[in-house]
Amino acid sequence: MTHYRITLLPGDGIGPEIMAVAVDVLKVVGNKFDIEFQFQEALIGGAAIDTTGEPLPSATLDMCRHSDAVLLAAIGGYKWDSLPSDLRPEAGLLGLRAGLGLFANLRPAIILPQLIDASTLKRSVVEGVDIMVVRELTGGIYFGKPRGIFATETGEKRGVNTMAYTESEIERIGRVAFEAARKRRGKLCSVDKANVLEVSQLWRDRITQLSPEYPDVELSHMYVDNAAMQLLRAPKQFDTIVTGNLFGDILSDAAAMLTGSIGMLPSASLGASGPGVFEPVHGSAPDIAGQDKANPLAQVLSAAMMLRYSLNQSAAADHIEQGVLQVLQRGDRTGDIMSQGMNLLGCGAMGEALIQALEE
Ligand code: NAD
Repeated sequence: MTHYRITLLPGDGIGPEIMAVAVDVLKVVGNKFDIEFQFQEALIGGAAIDTTGEPLPSATLDMCRHSDAVLLAAIGGYKWDSLPSDLRPEAGLLGLRAGLGLFANLRPAIILPQLIDASTLKRSVVEGVDIMVVRELTGGIYFGKPRGIFATETGEKRGVNTMAYTESEIERIGRVAFEAARKRRGKLCSVDKANVLEVSQLWRDRITQLSPEYPDVELSHMYVDNAAMQLLRAPKQFDTIVTGNLFGDILSDAAAMLTGSIGMLPSASLGASGPGVFEPVHGSAPDIAGQDKANPLAQVLSAAMMLRYSLNQSAAADHIEQGVLQVLQRGDRTGDIMSQGMNLLGCGAMGEALIQALEE
């Protein structure tokens, strides 16, 4: 039996509800695939602020460091919105990413046949879309220096941010992307703005230099403005996309919205070594928290990504993903993905339906 220590960070809002479903799912899959999970729970976000006064207590970071993977739900809520930015729940998330050195963010955007009508785009455009956006997470313009708002000689204010990447930063995200493409359909599109930005020229050169090491992956390049258009015009041309922090922030949201359902989208954040963090793309949904209305499937699919990308348990990951398709096929829906003629379920009942499908 393989044994893994998993840190659970339920966080705030709907977090505890959807996490409970994911844990039940992992237990069932563990039994089936001879995997033993040792779960340990820690505080983050608003829940941690209320108990300890800080959004990422050092005990939480320590526990995460000493685990095989971290499953996070969501943080934040109205209650903590007026705190100073370094004490807000979001600071806990940034601290976790920095503390674990998570430089690669993987966000799949898959159109499930059962939810095709949830997309705002035409069926013929989105049918069959299956994209993975690999976004650099700890460099680029969000972290480059100098940054700030400075007074000029004339007394006018000037805002400054700096987009910078070193070769080694480009290389490590490039390798994650080539590896991801290799596990998928073998196509990688690197997105930049090399016609205008020097930092993008270096990005393009370095990614191109890596290409011969991955002969099974077909590399192409695209400018970010064109990539935004192509995602809406003909998204099926993309398999894996790799891009910097700013472009990735925007394009991963655009790609995600092709699917039309935020409650279905998982993500993974990975470092060079050590545990990765797996979490839904959505937030803590305070408007529906505690009402048994949340869709737990993004959390469950995040657990599947954890099995695939951190624990190398692809068969167990496949089983979960098949189970999700099966409940959708049966017509089970939470409110966010509800359509006419389907069965409306709460968060707990959706979890039970999924467990039943996984045990069949
Ligand atoms: P949100 O994603 O929490 O909610 C947006 C809308 O989608 C809401 O109407 C919500 O009810 C719905 N929704 C989200 N997830 C759902 C689910 N699983 N099932 C059903 N419906 C779902 O975004 P927001 O409202 O902008 O932010 C709320 C809080 O979450 C804020 O405090 C924000 O800072 C935080 N947030 C956290 C994360 C994170 O933890 N990674 C990400 C985004 C926002």
